[in-house]
Amino acid sequence: MVAQVKHFINGAWRPASDGGTFASINPADESCVAQVAAGTSADVNAAAASAKAAFPAWRKTPAPARGEVLYRAAQLLSERKEDLSRLLTREMGKVISEARGDVQEAIDMAWYMGGEGRRLFGHTAPVEMPDKFGMALREPVGVVGLITPWNFPVAVPSWKLFPALVAGNSVILKPAEDAPATAALFVQICAEAGLPPGVLNLVCGAGETGAALVAHTDVRVISFTGSTDTGLQVYQRAARLGKKVSLEMGGKNAIIVLEDADLDLAAQAITWSAFGTTGQRCTAASRLIVQREVHGQLAEALTEKARALELGDGLDESVEVGPLVNEAALEKVERYMGIAREEGARVLTGGARADLGQGWFFQPTLLDGVTRDMRVAREEIFGPVLALITVDSMDEAVELNNEVRYGLSSSIFTRDVNRAFHAMRDLSSGIVYINHGTSGAEIQFPFGGIRETGNGMREAGQAGLDTFTEWKTVYVDYSGRLQRAQIDTEALLQDAPGEGGDS
Ligand code: ADP
Repeated sequence: MVAQVKHFINGAWRPASDGGTFASINPADESCVAQVAAGTSADVNAAAASAKAAFPAWRKTPAPARGEVLYRAAQLLSERKEDLSRLLTREMGKVISEARGDVQEAIDMAWYMGGEGRRLFGHTAPVEMPDKFGMALREPVGVVGLITPWNFPVAVPSWKLFPALVAGNSVILKPAEDAPATAALFVQICAEAGLPPGVLNLVCGAGETGAALVAHTDVRVISFTGSTDTGLQVYQRAARLGKKVSLEMGGKNAIIVLEDADLDLAAQAITWSAFGTTGQRCTAASRLIVQREVHGQLAEALTEKARALELGDGLDESVEVGPLVNEAALEKVERYMGIAREEGARVLTGGARADLGQGWFFQPTLLDGVTRDMRVAREEIFGPVLALITVDSMDEAVELNNEVRYGLSSSIFTRDVNRAFHAMRDLSSGIVYINHGTSGAEIQFPFGGIRETGNGMREAGQAGLDTFTEWKTVYVDYSGRLQRAQIDTEALLQDAPGEGGDS
């Protein structure tokens, strides 16, 4: 059944202003999942007007009441988890167990940020004058624009939406063009939880729609997750308009395996991190940096595991690896195979499309003999491809881990506690795992990366509120007179007892 997906503006579902639509395609069988309204700048204008009008009342709604709406959203998302997960799998291809995990992250985030309704901690500090009080409070910013990718089509919007809402902002979500029906169902469920009209708006469309959102002067914050190229463009355009921007972009994450590691554990974790979600996670492991002593044994174990993975339609519970999201993604991975061969890498397994009769499948691939300067060791491929790089020491491994342009997640396998602590100190990325793959973030901790992965902001945890709040500092002078004097430190010191004092 082909669904019709519309924009959601001011509490109502609306077609595009010019009637335009585009198709959302199931990457496992190339069928059409939905016909989707293609957002124009007139649609973005309408969404911005609706969000702007809704902001004053939402801002003044007590934060605990805003939190209650998020609790209801968590409940409704739990009730609709299976519907949402199945639609998610049909629309972007990840296997159903992972789709359930994607939705669960949104449920967890709704509970967590719902609790912020009764926290949203500010702080007080001592002040310099008598009969005076000082405090710093978090304030909402206004209308915020969320631009999200297709690889976590429920989790990533939720990481942005729930902190934005609990803080009192109104929101326009522009989801990825490869998963808009999933975003629409997510928005519908959140709206049913009791959001007033205009507080949450959805405008579907591709890059131009996102660009219109970035350009709209009433949208004061842009929270973006996607590729580094697009993210940096968004950053520049938004900066010219003085907007606050949060960016989560590319990755080239490495797992380091030292010679003392538990190799069985490492092999399981690497397989999951490299080939889970068909390698299309921002935290996927695309480099394996392995110490020479254990290279042969680990490469053999990984080859066996990669070959055993079952590919297919993610709705089939036994399938372990779904398709790539679209044909362009498949072609990109294929292009990198040509590059790898030209550069002298050796294919241990995979290296080509998987022919399942339909859909955009690629075989889980291991490239051996990769060196640090090869493009496959430095560039984000975003597919089921792992590059094996052999090193002679932990120092070399850390240096290789840290030298790429991205810095999202790193992992190390070792049984030596001293080396584990050295790694925690020296691995340069936003997230570090010890004896675990590169993925598996928990929503109560900050998530994000350094270098060209991000711009210093973080999602999730308490840090996730920073994008969507401004600090307001309030001073209250209850002395009844104009107090201007600062502390006279010299006088204080003169009054103080001298050395060897007599007090
Ligand atoms: P991917 O390569 O994973 O598709 P993109 O970075 O192109 O990632 O897309 C991530 C999100 O950014 C999507 O919602 C997409 O529509 C949006 N987008 C793409 N181009 C632009 C742009 N120029 N301005 C704003 N948003 C954009």
